[in-house]
Amino acid sequence: MQILFLGAPGAGKGTQCKRLAEKLALPHLSSGDMLREAVRQGTKAGVEAKSFMDKGMLVPDDVLIKMFKEFLSKPEMDKGFILDGFPRNLAQAESLSTLLTELSKALTVVINLQTSDDLLVERITGRRVCPNKECNAVYHVKFAPPAKEGVCDKCQTELSHRSDDKPEVVKQRLATYAEQTEPLIKYYGDQGLVKTVDGEGEPEAVFESLIKALKVPA
Ligand code: AMP
Repeated sequence: MQILFLGAPGAGKGTQCKRLAEKLALPHLSSGDMLREAVRQGTKAGVEAKSFMDKGMLVPDDVLIKMFKEFLSKPEMDKGFILDGFPRNLAQAESLSTLLTELSKALTVVINLQTSDDLLVERITGRRVCPNKECNAVYHVKFAPPAKEGVCDKCQTELSHRSDDKPEVVKQRLATYAEQTEPLIKYYGDQGLVKTVDGEGEPEAVFESLIKALKVPA
């Protein structure tokens, strides 16, 4: 299965994609995680990306397209994959389509994870992440706190607050989503690929709806 997730920042894409990747044993390709790792490593792409990420704006398309071309061409992608955060505008969607055709692949389904704006802001500003790149677990101070405050349950690394999860940047990220990414719902809808899943409940309930929508046995 080649699955693509759409949804605003804070809709829960990362959380649901991780669970789904485990359940289906598919690679989870998160553009945000890849970019943050490039920033941490100080690569050329990371240095270029950082200034855009800090402002809540999209990183230039060529950076993302190059990155995904490299990942999607790997042999381990032949069993399928889960795309999270890419594409994020029409130009990226067109490039993805060309790339998948070159690789003799196609998207199986596009999940549109839907949530209200008020909930998005609360979810993002309370989010805490594990900076360990082998873990990348996500918590929330109110909705999903770790057992020990500020420490990752899985790997005991100190949790951090993403610099772009601050209120002023969050506003810009939501505006960027509405302007540039939301039109992809229609783009993929016209291709008959979109299934909308309600992202407002507890992560467990959202996951149940998700696997129902994908017709995966529970
Ligand atoms: P995320 O973790 O998905 O919320 O992404 C964090 C930030 O990375 C975004 O606000 C963008 O600045 C950048 N980013 C992630 N994916 C993309 C993409 N497909 N195109 C451009 N910028 C992206």
